[in-house]
Amino acid sequence: MHAMVLKRPGAALEWTELPEREPAAGEIRVRILACGVCRTDLHVLDGELPDPKLPIIPGHEIVGRIDALGEGVERLEMGQRVGIPWLGHTCGACDYCRAGRENLCDRPLFTGYTRDGGFATATIADARYAFPLGDAGDDIGLAPLLCAGLIGYRSLVLAGEAGRLGLYGFGAAAHIVAQVARWQGRSVFAFTRSGDLASQAFARRLGACWTGGSDQRPPQPLDAAIIYAAAGELVPAALAAVRKGGRVICAGIHMSDIPAFPYRLLWGERELMSVANLTRRDGIEFLQLAARAGIVTQTTVYPLRRANEALADLRAGAFEGAAVLVP
Ligand SMILES: [Zn+2]
Ligand SMILES: [Zn+2]
Repeated sequence: MHAMVLKRPGAALEWTELPEREPAAGEIRVRILACGVCRTDLHVLDGELPDPKLPIIPGHEIVGRIDALGEGVERLEMGQRVGIPWLGHTCGACDYCRAGRENLCDRPLFTGYTRDGGFATATIADARYAFPLGDAGDDIGLAPLLCAGLIGYRSLVLAGEAGRLGLYGFGAAAHIVAQVARWQGRSVFAFTRSGDLASQAFARRLGACWTGGSDQRPPQPLDAAIIYAAAGELVPAALAAVRKGGRVICAGIHMSDIPAFPYRLLWGERELMSVANLTRRDGIEFLQLAARAGIVTQTTVYPLRRANEALADLRAGAFEGAAVLVP
């Protein structure tokens, strides 16, 4: 098999030939058809997340077909198309796992961060964390659903009943969540970098009723806002945009420091919280909902060997929607 491997944070990924491994008990081997590129991959590359496995194969939005089954795998079959997400393993025994909050597990493994991921021609996964994808929908279009979609969906659920929903940072996650929110009958207010008219036009095409720079106030106070961009200064901006009792959700795994802000922005029973990872239940719910809601992702495709270019383009905001690597 071949993979794009990160040897140390700050380095470019290297095209590497690796020995093929047979799946152990409870594992599957998957021939990769497509793998999405996520903002979190950039945080791994930049060394912003603690204790990555090194060397590591990044990538946690994997669509592939099973080509080997380890002993004891019963729920899945050879040739089946599956999705492999960020949550790669949980302990099943800690207080969080036992309380149904496996996204907060004390001893988890994350695909493309602490276990090898999908910037490769094949991967080995824990069968219990793979989602059957069925045969509807094309491989490339489905890949961004596996993180941008899934964690985006979890953040939307945590935003509550909000009829007027703000989305800060209109990239891969927001372009999916905007479609779900519109399908649910909510009004979407999209905030981009100041002057990013291309992203604002993209958001309007996906049904946003208002678009503007993140330094602007929406015409009416929002019921909730979700922050997808990794910029800490968006936290006070979003708090200033929500009504009393409104909620601000930080959906990224890493953010620059949040600047000090006056207490009155939080006053009025506004809530500020983060979203961490996903549970398998989120995945099952969201993948069903995405099919019902007819979610269509916008993708820019790169050959696997050009993963570095895809990551640089993501960093530069050079495309709308999501980048997907194809072996
Ligand atoms: Zn656990
Ligand atoms: Zn991700």
